[in-house]
Amino acid sequence: MLGYYLHKSKELFQIKIQKCDREDFLNGIHQLNATRGKLISTIFLIIESFQLIATIIMKKEGIFQKPNLYYELMYLIMIPTMVIFLLLFHIMAKDLPKHVKGNINLSILFTIFVLCWCAGMSLLDQMSGGEVLIYMISIIAVAVTPIFRPLFIVIIYLTVHTFFVYFLLSFHASEDRLIGDVIKSTAIIIISGAIAFMRYKNRAEDYISKKLLRESAVELKRLNLELEMANHKLEVLSITDGLTGIYNRFAFDMILNKEWKQCRQQQQHISLIMIDIDFFKAFNDNYGHQAGDVCLKRVAEVLSTGTESDSDTVVRYGGEEFAIILPAMEEEDAKAFAERMRISIEDMKIRHEHSDISNYVTISLGVHTMKPHEQVSIEEFIRTADIALYRAKKISRNRVVVA
Ligand code: GH3
Ligand code: MG
Ligand code: MG
Repeated sequence: MLGYYLHKSKELFQIKIQKCDREDFLNGIHQLNATRGKLISTIFLIIESFQLIATIIMKKEGIFQKPNLYYELMYLIMIPTMVIFLLLFHIMAKDLPKHVKGNINLSILFTIFVLCWCAGMSLLDQMSGGEVLIYMISIIAVAVTPIFRPLFIVIIYLTVHTFFVYFLLSFHASEDRLIGDVIKSTAIIIISGAIAFMRYKNRAEDYISKKLLRESAVELKRLNLELEMANHKLEVLSITDGLTGIYNRFAFDMILNKEWKQCRQQQQHISLIMIDIDFFKAFNDNYGHQAGDVCLKRVAEVLSTGTESDSDTVVRYGGEEFAIILPAMEEEDAKAFAERMRISIEDMKIRHEHSDISNYVTISLGVHTMKPHEQVSIEEFIRTADIALYRAKKISRNRVVVA
């Protein structure tokens, strides 16, 4: 039980900022202290200038009879000092990372000065039987305005308060209230110290959670990117033939569907060439499967380089069969195109001594052209091109037949 409470209280005082983050975290604090330092010094400058002017006027008008030379002196000290601090804060804020140390010292010095000045005012108030209110307010203000490391706040409060209590003993007008004022101001110091510590701790925890959030956002972004890339790869793979690198049958269905619709809309012809390598089984059987693969790759290459328009698509339809989709191409052009392809393959001169028709690898081609319309399906369109290929095979092979 005791161990649990000890652990809990230890946790309460622990600030878990990692060494590598400390600089960045403290830089944020310095930035905040510099901004608030500028703001506070400006406020003091305005208030004290007004107060000085008001005191002078009241004195002239005879409203304020009390000798207030010390007060005037305090305002006079405050005004130029605030101007100096304001200027220094401006200079430091211009390039904060360069002036880290200077900024810390300036903030500490500024805080000590303000506390001492308020303590001085409270001591002056003692002469006229006043309260130590200004000093206590300044202590609380220091706890809630800047953010200091706990050690600094202890040093600031201890130094100023020791001097304050020491001088209070000599300035205090009423012996009865002396102890009360010391106790009150000390209690305020302790409470303010605790507040300052909690603010520092909260800031650190806030920094840690924001950093974790940032890191997880970056990680999420990275994972998303990876996923996107993997998806893209998968997409490409799903439409590419592994052996030849050209479009596969799946892509054929998609592309033909799209081009078919487009040609139907635009009232244009569409041509399809179905291609089959002649006596390829014999090629495989005699030269081996690997040589067969090389042959397939070369045929795919020649067919692909033979296309003239970006919308012409060469696909590996399956096995040793290929297809070429030629949108907006009429029958005569398609026939001539197919003939060019046939010759190009023959011209590759891949030896095929086991072909009944040539000494080289050849292809047979079936061409079909039509203007797509509602009465004809894509399947029928393909089938007709296929029948033309079958006829080419039947007639002799190494030839083009138009359906
Ligand atoms: P035809 O002239 O009538 O077309 O005769 P063919 O021998 O070309 O036709 P068949 O359908 O009898 O044989 C096709 C051969 O294609 C059989 C198969 O071994 C071969 N083939 C199919 N896919 C591949 C492949 O990816 N690599 C290799 N090396 N051969 C393949
Ligand atoms: Mg075949
Ligand atoms: Mg064949």
